[in-house]
Amino acid sequence: MSHRVMQKEHIWTFVENLARSHRLVGPVARPGNQISFEYLDDHWRDMVLDYPPSQYPPKSILFPRRETLLTFTINGEPPQVSATVTAEPTAIFGIHACDLHGIRCLDMVFADGVPDPYYHARRAAALLIGVSCRPDAECFCASMGTLFPPEGGFDLFLTDLDTAWLVQVGSEKGAAALADNVECREATAEQIRQGQERLAARALQQKGIHIRVEHLPLLFGGEYHDPIWDELGERCISCGECNFVCPTCYCFDVADEMDPHDSTSGRRVRTWDACQLPDFAVVAGGKNYRDTAAQRNRHRFYRKFLYPVLKYKKSFCVGCGRCVRSCPVDIQIVDTVNHFVEQNLPGGKS
Ligand code: SF4
Ligand code: SF4
Repeated sequence: MSHRVMQKEHIWTFVENLARSHRLVGPVARPGNQISFEYLDDHWRDMVLDYPPSQYPPKSILFPRRETLLTFTINGEPPQVSATVTAEPTAIFGIHACDLHGIRCLDMVFADGVPDPYYHARRAAALLIGVSCRPDAECFCASMGTLFPPEGGFDLFLTDLDTAWLVQVGSEKGAAALADNVECREATAEQIRQGQERLAARALQQKGIHIRVEHLPLLFGGEYHDPIWDELGERCISCGECNFVCPTCYCFDVADEMDPHDSTSGRRVRTWDACQLPDFAVVAGGKNYRDTAAQRNRHRFYRKFLYPVLKYKKSFCVGCGRCVRSCPVDIQIVDTVNHFVEQNLPGGKS
């Protein structure tokens, strides 16, 4: 991995030049102190790179909220089905390290079993450009091991050095994008050290889980019947927002929709789903395998801290804090984990 240095003002040259070969996506400030990842097209100067965590991660660029998987007509024999998988080269600017880890999680999930061609087409066409962040009171990435960008999980990563950007080059694609579009020079050892120091300084966070990530399965293995699930279930209103804002949640529903004015044609559509919604686990015949909010909350925690750590050797919570900021009843993910730590390892971090 190499490091380059780009003068601050050259970032706009880089963006403008990249726009000739890529669609651009980046964080934009919206009313109500919200930051949202948007397609920038010709308003790329609206992009902000020094920003607190966005309300939603850039997940929807790679895994849209709603997408058509195929179209069909059924007015002849056999029925005609057409599926087109396309993706435009897209540069996603300004991704924080935790969200790059979130994309790593999605990469693993959508490669599992039969790889998902829709996700992978967009992922292969994406240039991931990370940026150093400004953690807020709900961030706990330092304790989740996601403070630094994941090795092999980004193309370029920018760290603010006041008058310049330190650019970590994470892939050949990133190196080419830089070489073709902007003037940079080799970083000095001192600049690399400063960049590392700046990233490490963000570790001073108010919140954190009190256990090492690799030990989480030990913690959750024996807590299936803990009364805390009922407490969370009594407060939770099952809105599903904690799922929708999460950079690693990937559940979806698939449905066939007929054209409103033509009963012989339609499309198969995939939309985001959420395990906290009351009917998520309803199966044919009407049985609901998780019909209480307590069961659904427990499931969410297990899907973050136990099952993926066993299967992928990675926690599917990256410490972004979004589920806490967006929860209308203030369900605190860190407090819940630390409740189990206290119960199992009073007073200590394993
Ligand atoms: S579970 Fe909450 S804190 Fe963890 S990654 Fe998802 S939204 Fe972020
Ligand atoms: S955001 Fe809060 S209230 Fe809504 S489903 Fe998640 S935990 Fe429950």
